[in-house]
Amino acid sequence: MKAEEKVTPALGDMDKEEFRRFGHELIDWIADYFERIEDLPVLAQIEPGDLKAQLPVAPPEKGEAMEEIIRDGDRLIVPALTHWSHPSFFAYFATSTSAPGIFGELLSAAFDNKAMLWRTSPASTELEEVTLDWLRQMIGLDPGYTGIIYDTASVSSMHAIAAAREGVEMRIREEGMSGRKDLPLLRVYVSEQAHSSIEKGVITLGLGQKGLRKIPTDSEFRMDVKALAEAIDEDKRNGYLPFCVVATVGTTSTSSIDPIAEIIPIGEQHAMWLHVDAAYAGSAAVVPELRHILNGCERADSVAVNPHKWLFTPFDLSVLYCRHLDLLRRAFSLVPEYLRTPEQEQVRNGSDYGIQLGRRFRALKLWMIIRYFGREGLAARIREHCRLAKLFASWVEASPDWELMAPLPLALVCFRACPRIEADSEAGRSGRLDVLNEAIMHGVNATGKALLSHTKLNDKLTLRLSVGNIRTTEKQVRQVWELLNEQLRLLV
Ligand code: PLP
Repeated sequence: MKAEEKVTPALGDMDKEEFRRFGHELIDWIADYFERIEDLPVLAQIEPGDLKAQLPVAPPEKGEAMEEIIRDGDRLIVPALTHWSHPSFFAYFATSTSAPGIFGELLSAAFDNKAMLWRTSPASTELEEVTLDWLRQMIGLDPGYTGIIYDTASVSSMHAIAAAREGVEMRIREEGMSGRKDLPLLRVYVSEQAHSSIEKGVITLGLGQKGLRKIPTDSEFRMDVKALAEAIDEDKRNGYLPFCVVATVGTTSTSSIDPIAEIIPIGEQHAMWLHVDAAYAGSAAVVPELRHILNGCERADSVAVNPHKWLFTPFDLSVLYCRHLDLLRRAFSLVPEYLRTPEQEQVRNGSDYGIQLGRRFRALKLWMIIRYFGREGLAARIREHCRLAKLFASWVEASPDWELMAPLPLALVCFRACPRIEADSEAGRSGRLDVLNEAIMHGVNATGKALLSHTKLNDKLTLRLSVGNIRTTEKQVRQVWELLNEQLRLLV
């Protein structure tokens, strides 16, 4: 049927029968997508601008037929996708959606609640409280923590730093920071391996990049605690106000784990807020034998965990666990008359705890995921990912042509090719290995059969293989190892 022939209703939404038909068709489409996903290239095989060039510059004047829209989705959108749900997606932090998560998103879109106030979505508010308390128990955090959902860890951590800043009692909410002679330089401390989102949060909060001090790391990429203590002492001597330390459990480059238990006494000595960025690794604490990664959090002030990273939750859903919700509320609550409600003292109104007013009903998908898989099911999947990563690492270790570049606490392998190549000097050799490894990575990625990403460790280009996708099995891990070795043979 041609688009012009199909009549979109003059008023109101799609006809009920049409909705039912396309709804079923789309679920079938998604089921087929997962069945054929391994035949699709992981990395979108298009050039910048290719998709835009195929789309009309002006919007349609008249409604178009759903068939046509779905067909264009297949024809234009799918080839422009990088398939994060592909089981050979090993780049960045490999993550994936799951069936109960997709259903949760679908229902959430249908309900379309804006959970700014308890009364605008009691279900969202109360389900969020209950589900986040379940997750808290699952990862072994103590009951002193209350969770709140944001979109991303970047935003969760920014809110934690805002609450910490509120805690310094310098009337920053009321008077701001600019033009004030009475305000010392406020400083946040992170390791050099911390995620860039912390620096962005600091910039956003008006603390400036000068307000962030990066602490060196040890040989295993963990914050050097002695250097932290010295930096704080030095800053205090210079009249600065150290007010927050952000430790990372699962750094982005290597998944290293900062020694929280050793950082805590330093933070406590200076009455600083300790925020733990466990965006990636926090979910792994669902596995009983990995729970120790959050050791020390019993004395931290806040912890960010991203179910959208390693808990099979469709993007986006990040959780901030915080001990001082009162400070978060003091930093952000602003209730105009039109949002005042009779029950406001009795309930939690989500908009009191952040910059957003309306909030999506995200708890629904997490509730469905936890119920469907259960804690044991989630733990089994994460445990298997760790096993697969260790298996891959064992091949790297056993091969004279490859080497590991960092310890492997969880399911991220940092490695590189290091075949014997002739070179004049160590520096020359190192440069050539960087070029070689980058070429290997692009070679593998160009096959469309797997996707890897990279980082730099000790100035050396390092390949990263992250196992975190719900569909990944040993088959794909073996395949990417073969692809890497094929590329190596081609290039050396
Ligand atoms: N923190 C860490 C340790 C990360 O690895 C990442 C992303 O990979 C982030 C924060 C940012 O995550 P988000 O995309 O949820 O903001």
